[in-house]
Amino acid sequence: MTLTKDYYDVLGVDRDASADQIKKAYRKLAMQYHPDVADTPDAAEKFKQIGEAYEVLHDSNKRAMYDRGVDPMSNGFGGAAGFGFPGGGAAGFDFTNLVDAMFGQGGSRGPRSRVRRGQDALVRLSLSLAEAAFGITKPLRVDTAVVCGTCNGTGAKDGSEPVVCSTCHGQGDITQVQRSFLGDIRTTQPCPNCRGYGSVIPHPCGECSGEGRVRASRTINVKIPAGVNAGNRIHLESQGEVGPGGGPAGDLYVELSVEQHEMFKRNGDDLEVVVRLPMTAAALGTEVVLPTLEAERDDLDAELSTVRVSVPSGTQSGTRIPITGRGVPRLRGSGRGDLGVTLLVQTPSRLDEHQRHLLRQLAEARGENNSEVAMEKQHKGVFGWLKDAFTQ
Ligand SMILES: [Zn+2]
Ligand SMILES: [Zn+2]
Repeated sequence: MTLTKDYYDVLGVDRDASADQIKKAYRKLAMQYHPDVADTPDAAEKFKQIGEAYEVLHDSNKRAMYDRGVDPMSNGFGGAAGFGFPGGGAAGFDFTNLVDAMFGQGGSRGPRSRVRRGQDALVRLSLSLAEAAFGITKPLRVDTAVVCGTCNGTGAKDGSEPVVCSTCHGQGDITQVQRSFLGDIRTTQPCPNCRGYGSVIPHPCGECSGEGRVRASRTINVKIPAGVNAGNRIHLESQGEVGPGGGPAGDLYVELSVEQHEMFKRNGDDLEVVVRLPMTAAALGTEVVLPTLEAERDDLDAELSTVRVSVPSGTQSGTRIPITGRGVPRLRGSGRGDLGVTLLVQTPSRLDEHQRHLLRQLAEARGENNSEVAMEKQHKGVFGWLKDAFTQ
């Protein structure tokens, strides 16, 4: 069998040319003979031949067939009979090859999908200190995009379907050539008729106007683990916006803030509280029972609602007594921080005559002279950390 055309010759490549060499040769020639560029009368015919040759040689199956002496573009193999100018709806020629060749995009061109992933969303959630410390499941109202229930995300009215865009013939973008004194300037833009999709929805769904998704409010239950802190984000996969065309949902991030508590202050995994104590109790020693932050939990274990603090006799103002394991549960790892109880010893005021008498007697018995003071060396001491913990 003799071949009517030599495709290798048309592209000007050797018979053992690599796929890459074929592609390069084709691009070069297609640029040169594109009817928008070339003025010579036989350019269109030449361009057609180049397209045909490339069609055969870039496809390993067709090339192998051709190498065996069979022309895949001849009648009977689909192609040559219907072959016409690219873009004219001819069969057997892949228009995107041409577009790729002209603009060097190598396959990344073409219509974009209507279905895309939705965006991630960020919402803020405010927690009480107890909620952050001990965890909670909280309902959260989210205003987001969900799949349109009327069209199930297709964007088309019942029974109807998207059709190929007549402006770009399904390519999604269109190319314009402007002649200027510098030469031809080619610009490719998303097709304005189909906005780059390559298809149009002639009968859009009335509910979503063809978007495939609608805005809706929904309530989700967010599980807050124990030990979270302000600024932490909870990542909820696929709870964000549904994408255009009913595409997969993005993720939802819940950013936490924590309200200030009247009594308790958090310092890392520790909780701090300040307790006022009469001077006599501090001197004699005592035991105090304090309500804990856990008293605010709904699912309360009664035993945890209070804590017993032993104050040894002779306790100084500013002393911090740590109660191990009664602070905030650790978010990572196990166990809990401490509950730090700082004691502020109250000097009695508004003494009556009898009380004055008793205190004077005590001072005499202890040999304490009114004017006897001792200067303390400059140091941070117990009040130092207290200041640090409570003024930040
Ligand atoms: Zn719809
Ligand atoms: Zn279009």
